[in-house]
Amino acid sequence: MKLSKLLTATLREAPTDAEVISHKLMLRAGMIRQLASGIYTWLPLGYRVLKKVEGIVREEMNSAGAQEILMPAIQPAELWQESKRWDQYGPELLRINDRHEREFCFGPTHEEVITDLVRREVRSYKQLPIILYQIQTKFRDEIRPRFGVMRAREFLMKDAYSFHLNDESLQETYEQMYKSYTKIFTRLGLEFRAVIADSGNIGGDKSHEFHVLAESGEDQIVFSKNTNYAASLERASVDLGKDEISSLENARGIEVGHIFQLGTKYSSSMKTNCLDKHGKSVNLIMGCYGIGISRIVAAAIEQNHDEKGIIWPTSIAPFQLALIPVNMHKSVRLRDAVISLYNELSVNDIDVLLDDRNERPGVMFSDAELVGIPHRFVFSEKGLDAGEIEYKGRCDKESKNIQIKKATAFIKEKINV
Ligand code: ATP
Ligand code: MG
Repeated sequence: MKLSKLLTATLREAPTDAEVISHKLMLRAGMIRQLASGIYTWLPLGYRVLKKVEGIVREEMNSAGAQEILMPAIQPAELWQESKRWDQYGPELLRINDRHEREFCFGPTHEEVITDLVRREVRSYKQLPIILYQIQTKFRDEIRPRFGVMRAREFLMKDAYSFHLNDESLQETYEQMYKSYTKIFTRLGLEFRAVIADSGNIGGDKSHEFHVLAESGEDQIVFSKNTNYAASLERASVDLGKDEISSLENARGIEVGHIFQLGTKYSSSMKTNCLDKHGKSVNLIMGCYGIGISRIVAAAIEQNHDEKGIIWPTSIAPFQLALIPVNMHKSVRLRDAVISLYNELSVNDIDVLLDDRNERPGVMFSDAELVGIPHRFVFSEKGLDAGEIEYKGRCDKESKNIQIKKATAFIKEKINV
């Protein structure tokens, strides 16, 4: 991609209403723009990151044997009345009437819709267990939307649901999802912790939250240095006495994933049964597994930034490499060398951003640092004389010279690490 063609504008200053660093940097780097409170447009740079997060989540879900579907965002009230959540959910549920005065809501989550689907489609134990998932826009009319896409009203979630004949099968899938989540957050390059949690609004018996560790996190988590115990503060106050909690270590986290064992909460109220191998009708047992795709983008920035801007983990960087030519507009030779490497890198599937603007080097460097591109090559006349370009990693103190003809192999090795 050539920067002159990218719909983006970096800002020196963040708007004053942005409170946390990720919100400030997402605005300054030109990743998102607010349309209304808690509702955002993703610009090309931000959308590239969102898509990369989505891609990693999708790959791991598929490899865990989950099948991708897409459910409607708009859901009929009848299903929510059946599960009794129409009255329980409160003002976070955005309720809408159609032209016939029929009631609907914009889905904040999809337990009702998926349960309705499964009770219609799954007839036999031979189809079980089954894991279905989607990556889709949710709406929750949060009382205090804030921190940009971290706590938005409209946001992107991966939600998966599993259906089982018995508890052992649910337990097995739950553990498999726990492992998949561990893989996902590891691949995303984030420091995270899984904690036992309260089941909250969704209900059910057992759950774990996955938190990205960051000082600005809204949630407090507690853990023991001596045992494996790690829990959300809400959960710990149920599990432990006051004295026990004040012995425990504290950390702050951003909840990016949540897995639940729902049991028969939805399948009993919504009468979801299937025949077992003896021909007996059994009430299905459910699990559900959410990941906040758009929240992850903000959480990654909360955890990885410095005074210059964002420091993306390579796996989710909008571009892996920036090409910065110094005075390209004055030198045909320089221009040719840059374009030739740009083409070679593109053919080799490297996500490369060429800063082809007629800007001062200082502006180009600080923009690449603000946007958080993990690697950069700088081209200059002097370097070309020696057949060299300058390489610097986003967090390196010093730059180093490398031969242009080895540049593609060099960066491939860096990125694969
Ligand atoms: P929170 O306690 O932060 O409100 P939640 O318990 O309501 O989260 P879930 O219903 O488990 O969240 O939703 C699954 C995931 O969706 C969460 O782990 C979180 O990462 C993400 N998420 C929830 N609410 C929001 C929001 N308002 N904006 C962005 N992401 C969200
Ligand atoms: Mg919530």
